[in-house]
Formats: sequence, C-alpha cells, structure tokens
Amino acid sequence: MTNDELTKFFSSIEWYDNSKIRVIRGCKRKAFYSLIGPRGTKLASAVGDGANFGSSFHAGLSRYYNTWGKFSESERRVFAARAFADEWAEYFPTEHMQSKHRLDNGLFILDRYCEHYLTEDPLYEPVESELGFAVKIESCKAGPVKCEPFHYVGRIDGIFRRIADDTYWLRETKTTGQTSPTAIEKRLKQLKFDHQPLGYVACIRQIQPQFKITGFLGDIIGVASQSLGFARDYFPVKQSDCDNWREQLINTVEDWRKMYQRGLFDLIRPGQPIDNINTFYQDTERCFDYGKCAFYELCDYGINNDTLAMFEENTWNPLLQRTPTRIEIN
Ligand code: SF4
Repeated sequence: MTNDELTKFFSSIEWYDNSKIRVIRGCKRKAFYSLIGPRGTKLASAVGDGANFGSSFHAGLSRYYNTWGKFSESERRVFAARAFADEWAEYFPTEHMQSKHRLDNGLFILDRYCEHYLTEDPLYEPVESELGFAVKIESCKAGPVKCEPFHYVGRIDGIFRRIADDTYWLRETKTTGQTSPTAIEKRLKQLKFDHQPLGYVACIRQIQPQFKITGFLGDIIGVASQSLGFARDYFPVKQSDCDNWREQLINTVEDWRKMYQRGLFDLIRPGQPIDNINTFYQDTERCFDYGKCAFYELCDYGINNDTLAMFEENTWNPLLQRTPTRIEIN
C-alpha cells in the first residue's frame, strides 16, 4: 500500500493504536487536546529525544534481523549500523543532544546488543520485522461486551520462529534511560501484562490463525552515556489474556465514545464558551509523569491564539511514519 492509499484508508475508518489508548486511559484533558483539539484541530505533542533514539534502534534491529540467513553475522551488524545511522540522522541533525543520544553511543550499544545475543539468536528464525497491521475489533466473542466495530492498528517489532518446536514469538523491544540490573528487570516485569504486546499477540492470532503464536519476547535495552544493560524474557500468552485485552480495549473505546459525544454537546451548547472542555477532566497527578506534559502551557495559560500557536496539527499514525514494508489488514 502506498502512503496515499493508507491515508485514504485511515480517514475512512475509526482507528485506535496503543498510543491513543494510553492517552485515553490517562489524563482526559490531554486526550482532548491530542485527539479532538480545541478548535477541532488535534494537537501534536513533541516526540522526545529518548523516543527518537529508540526508533533508531528499532530501525537498526529490523535490518539486523531481516537479513538473517542471507548474510554473515558480521555483515548483518554493518547493515544494522547503517540503518541505525540513517534513522538517527533524521532525528538528530545537530550536535545539541545529551551524550547518551550521540551516534557513537548508539552504534556502540547496538553492537553490544548483537554480541550479547550471539548464542541465543541462531535458535530463533526471524520471519517478520516491522510488520504493520490493522485489525477490525468487533464484539468480544468470549464475553458480553458489544460494540460498534473499530480498527486496532499497530506495528510489530519482529516475529520469530523458535526452530526447536516451530512456535512463534513476537518481539517487543523497549529502550529505557535506566541501566541498573534492577531497573531493567523491573521494566521487563512491567511488560508481562503490558497491553501493547498482549494486544499484538491477540491481533496476530486473529490474522494468522494457522500459526502457533505462543507469546512474546520482551526485550529491554538500557541506554545511558557511560553504561548499558540488556534483559530479555519469553512470555507465553493464554487465550484468556487476549480475550481480557480485547474486552478492556472495547470498554475503553466505548467510554471514550460516550465522553466524546458528551464533550461535543458541551462544546456546541448555546451560550457556553467554545472552550468549555470540562467534560474532559484534568488528571493533574500526571502533569510531570515523563517530564513536563507537552500541553502544560494550555492548562496553565488557557486556550488562546498565543498558546495554540505553539502547536502543530497531530497527524500521527503508526503506519504512516516509516511505512512498514508489509501491512496486514483484516
Ligand atoms: S498539563 Fe496535566 S492536566 Fe494538563 S493535559 Fe497535561 S497532564 Fe493533563
């Protein structure tokens, strides 16, 4: 699919991805800013250097694994380094960055990563990398929840076949700014119930029922300027976990739809100021969750032409940014 075809497709459906669902489950005012917008224009929040550095890692690892079996390991490492550097150059055009996000540090960590998993990697054949998908979510077969269908969209870091028993595992790689073994193990444990990998397993089971998708490989990379750290674990996923994920997803979307309808009613109510957005209540505990919230000035100074001028339109779509080579639509 070309980007034009994808843009057309996404404008014709109601879709959610993990990032939208996360924002909906968090501060409702933030969800309003980014998914509806004060003047009907959704506002973009800036992507931090840490996330961009993580994207560069994903590009490097994608190249490393999709050349498996076709080139020697040392050649694949060179290809991975080039892919990392190309992606990194898109995000970090100047030298103004923390030393942990410098190109040489990234290449060093990537090389250490390949070295670290040298004995484990030959046991798992990579069959997909950066696979995009859009899956129609209908009423939960396993439960009483009913809803109007919508699409759930994602991009899977990689799918591996365990050669010994012909089972399939989805790779979910996360980079973190902490590198102590305790912090990395904690992040890995967090992944076990994380909605993102559970949802991806559920969706791939729906798209490819002929394969035995056993679970996911949680993969943590700790990134700092003077230290690094790695941790992996294999998490089998029960079908009941997938059903629970689906039911929670449907409930979240249904709740958001109700809030959205009520919010629109409030926004257009005669005599009310257009910026009456109190349907979308603030969760001020989250203002500094991951650094300062991107919309802090809107909450602080209010919605006006000056504060709105600080933002661009939110055009985020996980499949339009670096379009994956393969996209499954079901
Ligand atoms: S600044 Fe705080 S209250 Fe305002 S949108 Fe962000 S998290 Fe919500």
